[in-house]
Amino acid sequence: MSCHRPESTPVASPAGTGPDHNSLALMQPRAPAETPRQMKNGAPVKANNVAPQGVYLPNYNILTPHMRSPEYVQMSTAAAITLGVVQGKMYRCSCTRCLNLLLTYPEGCRANCAYCGLARHREAERDYADRNFIRVDWPAVPLDTVIDIVARDAAASPFHRMCISMITHPRSDHDTVSVLKRWTERIDPSAIPVSILSNPTTMTRDDVERLHQLGADIFTVALDAATPAIFDRTRGKGVQSPHTWAKYWEILMDARDVFGPQKFGAHIIIGMGETEQQALSLVQRLVDLGGHSHMFCFFPEKGSLMDHLPATPRDQWRRVQLGRYLIDYRAVRVEQMSFDSEGRVTGFGIPQGELDAVIDAGIAFRTSGCPGKFAEDISACDRPYGDSPPSNIASFPFQPDRSDLRKIRRQLRLVERRN
Ligand code: SF4
Repeated sequence: MSCHRPESTPVASPAGTGPDHNSLALMQPRAPAETPRQMKNGAPVKANNVAPQGVYLPNYNILTPHMRSPEYVQMSTAAAITLGVVQGKMYRCSCTRCLNLLLTYPEGCRANCAYCGLARHREAERDYADRNFIRVDWPAVPLDTVIDIVARDAAASPFHRMCISMITHPRSDHDTVSVLKRWTERIDPSAIPVSILSNPTTMTRDDVERLHQLGADIFTVALDAATPAIFDRTRGKGVQSPHTWAKYWEILMDARDVFGPQKFGAHIIIGMGETEQQALSLVQRLVDLGGHSHMFCFFPEKGSLMDHLPATPRDQWRRVQLGRYLIDYRAVRVEQMSFDSEGRVTGFGIPQGELDAVIDAGIAFRTSGCPGKFAEDISACDRPYGDSPPSNIASFPFQPDRSDLRKIRRQLRLVERRN
């Protein structure tokens, strides 16, 4: 598709005729409260020391077992249903294509990111293994059980990718290696490629190299925030959390060197106070480096320090989704796009017919992430309803149908200006 004829572009409807974007002034997290000493570091779970038995379903009303990686991992409810260890059905999805394995410890994640359900400040209120994360429960499953099931016939598995999700914990680097080794001993990584969702704060370049040598395919860094100021406010000093923008970029650059083009990327949450122009400029920077961006629509996670704030307005989200797809997969550049004084997209810089074709294909509005086996631009990591309720889907975990696309067009709030 050509991308250098910006003479006929759609524009956003005028400001003030619908929901605005989530502004920087609005998206201020609450300050974390002090945690009582007896609740810190998973103390109740360690004191009770209940032995785990098989699969553990998050349940706030019983004593949480003492579970640790690498023997135990957590996974999304969608992955647990697809694996067959939990019963359930998902709205308009028969399965998920990504088996996300989240490291687990009674101490939980030692970071305090303001938008995250796993954050440290929650230790006063809920044991780590019981916390909601991206809107869903995360059952804990013995790693051997997971591997036994998938290894029966990896080539025929519904999973197109496995992803080890690290957290901020002193054991996280070591145990990520252990999980990866145990997996690749029994499952050929060419049958089910492995991604690493890293925790840069505790990592060195040697760690990145080791994971690559052990067969990891893609390495991602959850920048989450689109600007250094938002990063600091939501996951750095602003919320007594240890992360820094500089360290995240250091490991991202290491991943670029070690994993190579198209094999590294960054997560970005849209709607935490950045402008659409700032978000898409970051997407462009990542593409120019040879990587990809994986996007999440901000959702006020219950129990998080931002659960009082609004989800990202759909018009803001849809425009950034579409702009990101054009930059990542259609060689459009952010410099071709136009923006208003508040940084909102007013034109995508390509002819209307080309833009219509991309919108009608629907892929731009699907969940973004590491690819599966269908196509390079279709993510294995479909995260069903991880950033919205099914009643108002942000990231589509399936191919949007004609009715979905009509809604998406309304949400984009594009005014066609055909020449
Ligand atoms: S480091 Fe990751 S898991 Fe830990 S609080 Fe931050 S976003 Fe959540």
